[in-house]
Amino acid sequence: MNKDKDVGEMFYYCGHCGWITGKKIFKNNDMICEVCSEELKEVPQEYLTASGLLFISQDKRKEFIETVIKTAPEFNPNLFEQHEHILNEKKSNLKEQIEMEISTNRENEKDEKICCPICGSKKLSRISNVKKVAKVYVFGIFGVGDLGRTWKCSHCGAKF
Ligand SMILES: [Zn+2]
Ligand SMILES: [Zn+2]
Repeated sequence: MNKDKDVGEMFYYCGHCGWITGKKIFKNNDMICEVCSEELKEVPQEYLTASGLLFISQDKRKEFIETVIKTAPEFNPNLFEQHEHILNEKKSNLKEQIEMEISTNRENEKDEKICCPICGSKKLSRISNVKKVAKVYVFGIFGVGDLGRTWKCSHCGAKF
C-alpha cells in the first residue's frame, strides 16, 4: 500500500445503495452519495490498481460489489436496482426547475413590455381580482367594466 498517496481522484462507494464513483477529492471534503445522500466510503486499495484510479479488472469490481457491498448490513437492494432511475430523476427534476425559472423570467419580461394602448405609458398597475369582485358586490354585474381587464394606466387611467 502506498501510504503517502496524493489527495486526488479516488474511488468511493456507498454502502447503502452500492453507488461507486470516481471523485476528485480535497481534504475535509464531504463525500456524499449522489443517489441516496449517505456518506461514501473509500474503495479498499486491494481492488484497485496501484495508482488507485482504476479497478484492477471488471471481475474485481464485480467481486467487490458482491462480497463487500452486498453483504454489508446497511446495503439496500432496492436502492441498488434504482441507481440509474434515481439519478435520472434527479437530473430531470433539476432540468424542470431550470426550465420553470426560465419561463417565469419570460413572463416577467412580457409584463415589462406592456404599455398603455392610449398614451403609451409604461406606468401600469394590475387590476387585482379582489377589486373586481368588490365591484360586482357594490355595483352589480353591470357595473363591472373591469372584468376581463388586467391593467390600469397610471398616466391616463385607461383600463385594458
Ligand atoms: Zn448511496
Ligand atoms: Zn395611458
